[in-house]
Amino acid sequence: MIRFQAVHKSYGTAQVLRGVDVDIAKGKVVCLIGPSGSGKSTMLRCINGLESYQSGSIFINNMEVDARSSKIHEVRARVSMVFQRFNLFPHRTALENVMEGPLYVLKQGRKEVIDRAEELLVRVGLASKLKSYPASLSGGQQQRVAIARALAMQPDAILFDEPTSALDPEMVGEVLQVMRSLAEEHMTMLVVTHEIHFAREVADQVLFLDRGQILEQGSAQNVLREPSHERTRDFLRRVTHPV
Ligand code: ADP
Ligand code: MG
Repeated sequence: MIRFQAVHKSYGTAQVLRGVDVDIAKGKVVCLIGPSGSGKSTMLRCINGLESYQSGSIFINNMEVDARSSKIHEVRARVSMVFQRFNLFPHRTALENVMEGPLYVLKQGRKEVIDRAEELLVRVGLASKLKSYPASLSGGQQQRVAIARALAMQPDAILFDEPTSALDPEMVGEVLQVMRSLAEEHMTMLVVTHEIHFAREVADQVLFLDRGQILEQGSAQNVLREPSHERTRDFLRRVTHPV
């Protein structure tokens, strides 16, 4: 479903992705871990064409992602993104935020869009917040609106970039719970996260990115419990036992 083949990406002389090969199958949950600056966000941004890359290829459903192509909007509509800082429209209610994409990008009918947006907000536990503006919602609630908004595009896959990193600790669980339920429904997901417990429990595959290269990839069991590289072990020690 999402495939990287020898992808290289630089900013000026700085090589950020150095030959990334990854295959994400439909319906799988892949967790991407790695130190700050290793290129995790860049990988996600390349997938939906927010960034271009210099060599190699990225495919979504056999469609090549080319940020400079006029078809990039089609690709982008197939893959939703959930960011660390929610990125909701502040002057729109929760319901209007979820309606935005289907109404203006997918150009679906208003009635159908409202019904579906309500349904999605109910599904993420926000039935009582349809008319609320982002500023009156907690971080956990805003992130759940952002997930409902991502789902409203009926995407082939959802990319999450540290979706719980900006949240107060007591709100992390409610967001992970929604993501867990998507995993159970076999949504294809690529999740950048430092929530190692979540990755252990939910990930079909774990990737460890280090300085622009996938140093290790495999089952959660292999990568998180029995990593073969010292750098992976060192990273896991630091995220699970921060000093
Ligand atoms: P991560 O998400 O793993 O923390 P990023 O993908 O954000 O890493 O960044 C990888 C590297 O690319 C970092 O060294 C970062 O400074 C650099 N970088 C990211 N975005 C830009 C940009 N727009 N211009 C120049 N350098 C960038
Ligand atoms: Mg990042």
